[in-house]
Amino acid sequence: MTVELIAYTQMPGFPGNPMAVVEQAASVCYDSRPTETYRIANTCKASGHTSVLEHISFTFHISCVSRALLAQLTRHRHASFSVRSQRYCSEWGFKHVTPKSVKVMGMEDAFENRMSEINCAYRWLQDEEVPSEDARYVLPNACCTELYMTMNARALIESSRQRLCSRAQWEIRGMFEAMREAVRPVCPEVADWMRPKCEDDPKHPFCPESKGCGRHPKLEEVYKK
Ligand SMILES: Cc1cc2nc3c(=O)[nH]c(=O)nc-3n(C[C@H](O)[C@H](O)[C@H](O)COP(=O)(O)OP(=O)(O)OC[C@H]3O[C@@H](n4cnc5c(N)ncnc54)[C@H](O)[C@@H]3O)c2cc1C
Repeated sequence: MTVELIAYTQMPGFPGNPMAVVEQAASVCYDSRPTETYRIANTCKASGHTSVLEHISFTFHISCVSRALLAQLTRHRHASFSVRSQRYCSEWGFKHVTPKSVKVMGMEDAFENRMSEINCAYRWLQDEEVPSEDARYVLPNACCTELYMTMNARALIESSRQRLCSRAQWEIRGMFEAMREAVRPVCPEVADWMRPKCEDDPKHPFCPESKGCGRHPKLEEVYKK
């Protein structure tokens, strides 16, 4: 998997932290002057007025992730996507993601063989002049894909609440961790807000999941104390 931040919101003539844009936009609400510490933006975030975070966006180039991951990622409705097409691109010789569990169970060779068989089946359909859009029906969820994705900061934080949770599937969780680290150098504030939902307020963590990972107590356990 590779995750690269290729673009983010900037003010013309003032390159730097995109939070400056949030601060300027938020300041109009209170007839205030923007601060260099992003005080207004931080106060909005702390009090849940997160619409101001929609003024800044981040664009990622993501490759070598599975189509299984793609199916989960595209459930997030406030993101914009451009994805390698399996209609217009040939997937002959496709790369694939091998789950760690397959390796741990010593099934890697068998898994590789199955992928080769699928590749042969795909090639056979192409040789028979079945169009790519139909030949792709034999391709596996493990097949690698490549995409560009743009999310505003609010959507990034919202989706991270779910996908950085230990209940999220390992591949998409790893991708969100990589996105957070790609954002950190240019916008540490947003990177810090990309947290699992149990840590919405890091000083008062609790787990809302029915089957938690045990890292934080459930809300009823917090109240019992
Ligand atoms: C651990 C885990 C397991 C999952 N398992 C399954 C599964 O088994 N089956 C399955 O189908 N999906 C599953 N999902 C996907 C999940 O149900 C959501 O579709 C996905 O996480 C996107 O989140 P979202 O719907 O909150 O919102 P997003 O699309 O990311 O939108 C963000 C927020 O915007 C608001 N919003 C967006 N659209 C609307 C709307 N139309 N109306 C009102 N408010 C809206 C909501 O407040 C929403 O929370 C799973 C997700 C996770 C993290």
